[in-house]
Amino acid sequence: MAPTNNWDTARLVAADKKHVWHPFTPMAEWCAPEHEPIVLVGGQGALVWDSEGREYIDGNSSIWTNIHGHNHAHINAAIRRQLGRVAHTSFLGFTNPAAIELAESIVALFPPDSLSRVFFSDDGSTGMEAALRITDQHWRLKGSPRREFIAFRGGYHGDTAGAASLGAGEMFGGALGGWQFPARQVASVAELEQMQDADAVKIQAVVIEPLIQGAAGMRLWPEGTLAAVRRWCDRTGALLIADEVMTGFGRTGKMFACEHENVIADLLVLGKGLTGGYLPLAITVVREEVFEPFCVTSDVATTLFYGHSYTGSALGCAAAKASLEVFHSERVLEHLQGKIAFLRSKLRAISALPTVSQVRQCGFIAAIDISAGAVEHANRSSGQLAGDICRAARKHGFLTRPIREVIVFMPPLSITEDQLDHALTAVYTAITEVYGAPVMARPSAR
Ligand SMILES: *Cc1c(COP(=O)(O)O)cnc(C)c1O
Repeated sequence: MAPTNNWDTARLVAADKKHVWHPFTPMAEWCAPEHEPIVLVGGQGALVWDSEGREYIDGNSSIWTNIHGHNHAHINAAIRRQLGRVAHTSFLGFTNPAAIELAESIVALFPPDSLSRVFFSDDGSTGMEAALRITDQHWRLKGSPRREFIAFRGGYHGDTAGAASLGAGEMFGGALGGWQFPARQVASVAELEQMQDADAVKIQAVVIEPLIQGAAGMRLWPEGTLAAVRRWCDRTGALLIADEVMTGFGRTGKMFACEHENVIADLLVLGKGLTGGYLPLAITVVREEVFEPFCVTSDVATTLFYGHSYTGSALGCAAAKASLEVFHSERVLEHLQGKIAFLRSKLRAISALPTVSQVRQCGFIAAIDISAGAVEHANRSSGQLAGDICRAARKHGFLTRPIREVIVFMPPLSITEDQLDHALTAVYTAITEVYGAPVMARPSAR
């Protein structure tokens, strides 16, 4: 199964350290001689291989993107078919069948006359950026004085300047100054509900990651939060922007997280899993009422001046449409329910480990918190122990990346039950290896 090992890892790593700049990565540490980066060269289903022929389970779905597994025959074929026609043509002033058909298939996932209009972009950040710009221009076109956005503390909506103004700027230790959209943060629905009516009428939209905040460390909202935000928006007239960049496409057990609380957003942003994890593509799907002011006249004021060179990319759209077809042909959501239950039962053993303070699960997303006591006892600074554990898990064939002291467990939906079992055993073993002693006992030599 593993691809033949004919890669010159040492040469690749040397060239990487010399010429490449990695995102969200302290580069001094990355380039240090003792750091041995994993060079990924192949994948099949839930597995990936490195240049040394080692096999891993893709434990975070290649940074939360992969849905049906790598090298999926149906998605591969769809991309090849499109490639045989044309790879990319302009979406500015022209259109293409792949984008049109994807828009139709996406809209068909929602109740008739709800989310009906699709705007294409390149990744979650630009999809969010588009949502903010559409909302802002929507209210201006309607002559409304609404200017401010509301976001939830800890939320992550991308790292372009506009998307980051909803809060991520803070997370990365830097305010973005003049580039920000006016946004205020609230901690909870209760805080939102306490807002004075005079303030509420200035709000353009509330932005939320439904059910679970991803980059915040997989933090679950109390049940009913999303529905309560919907009610608040209905009462005050603000729009609801649902950021399902992470939660979309089955991750939570349903196609979209909003379905768990029977909520339909006014703008819905989808990215990451949209193409099954194949190509960068995002969409902002909006209700017809949001779109209407843009369609009353044809002039500069009603034109959305936003979009990129690769907007409506035919290859990406073909992949996304094929991914939606796989949901049907493989009855993905039906099969997923058993795996969600299996994951729940297996997580119990992990949650009983003394090193673990909490385990959370939202559908097929799981997070394991390493306890502060263990971090302290192991003489590690915050964020290091989970990193050590993730590195140890690699030796057992499991690949993931922590968020501070949270281990993210989020394999492709297509993972088999055997692989799932193996993956959870790898995590369990890695935790006990790195820090197996009960929190109150002295840690073993480290
Ligand atoms: C990852 C993520 C984004 C940003 O998407 P990119 O593709 O990284 O730009 C936005 N919102 C949420 C909830 C995400 O998880």
